Amino acid sequence: MSAIPLVDLKAQFRVIGPEVMAQVGGVLESMCLNLGPNVARFEEEFAAYCGVSHGVGVGSGTDALALALRALGVGPGDEVVTAPLTFMGTVEAIALCGARPVFADVDPETCTLDPESLAAAIGPRTVAIVPVHLYGLPADMERVMAVARRHGLAVVEDACQAHGAEYRGRRAGSLGHVAAFSFYCSKNLGAYGDGGMVVTDDAALARRVRLLRSHGETRRYRHVLLGTTSRLDELQAAVLRVKLRHLDGWNAARCALAAEYMRRLAGLPGLSLPAEPAWARHVYHLFVVRHPWRDDLRRYLARRGIATGIHYPLPAHLQPACAHLGYGPGDFPVAERLARQVLSLPLFPELTSEQLERVAGAVRDWHRRRQRRGQPLPGVAAGA
Ligand SMILES: *Cc1c(COP(=O)(O)O)cnc(C)c1O
Repeated sequence: MSAIPLVDLKAQFRVIGPEVMAQVGGVLESMCLNLGPNVARFEEEFAAYCGVSHGVGVGSGTDALALALRALGVGPGDEVVTAPLTFMGTVEAIALCGARPVFADVDPETCTLDPESLAAAIGPRTVAIVPVHLYGLPADMERVMAVARRHGLAVVEDACQAHGAEYRGRRAGSLGHVAAFSFYCSKNLGAYGDGGMVVTDDAALARRVRLLRSHGETRRYRHVLLGTTSRLDELQAAVLRVKLRHLDGWNAARCALAAEYMRRLAGLPGLSLPAEPAWARHVYHLFVVRHPWRDDLRRYLARRGIATGIHYPLPAHLQPACAHLGYGPGDFPVAERLARQVLSLPLFPELTSEQLERVAGAVRDWHRRRQRRGQPLPGVAAGA
């Protein structure tokens, strides 16, 4: 039996290849490679998709976060609160603009920022909050925004895993003051290289990001800000314009597959399935289950040729790179427990029902074997 990958980008390219190649060819014919018509159009199209008025294409999701923070005026001496269960880029972006990352714990069911822990993490130096819409599920933004309003803080959504996700009927990217998206190849909307975008309704903020991404230049060799080189390029923008037209269909396919996983994996002792709060539309960037014996399950699936992932095995506050921040084990018990229990199962729009059935069947077999060997599984994963 053939192996089942976690993500398969080749399957998608087989479908959209001709469309993409035509657009890429057009860009190369024009030799307009930077800040040309494709970037301008894609910025408009993606901002409109998110339901906001401005988009600024940048070099990556990490840069999108960092440039949004810099454009807000965040810098040395400031603190920015975020979740420790995230991709390291979230934390790097805060450090890149000279501010100090401060962590707050996550909710055990949604795996996103816990509003109460967030409120407790705010101090006199706090200037901004970066909620992460982890795995494709928006954070509880109404409560995050209430905390921000109470303390007069800016909110930068880390929407890098949440293209098309919704919170109470509004799209990710339109929920805070400004939002950052990544177009890394494996994201729900991914380029064939690196890319990112800052989206916002704040025209002045968008203008500052636009300056920062390209050396603070207002016209050739006149620099009003010290910025950087972080532009989305024309080739990637051309690819992303093709892919944006497919995004809703791909997200719908992801949701249908997730629903099928939910049906087939329901009721297994010790196995927790992704939360689907009533206020959100999850877009399943990742399908993440939790189990106290995660590593054993992962090894079993690997032997059956089923690839899995762990997002993420070590929370940010315990990473060697963050040692100087002074956190230690036990500081964020929910994030630490999730890091030991989370397991990402194969999920991408082109995953077939046969493949999904094989994955779900293997997870059920593993449970049966463990029970037969007299190894009772813990009843409730949440308490384990
Ligand atoms: C991918 C990702 C980023 C960073 O994006 P890059 O484009 O790789 O820099 C930041 N935050 C989260 C949650 C991500 O998943």
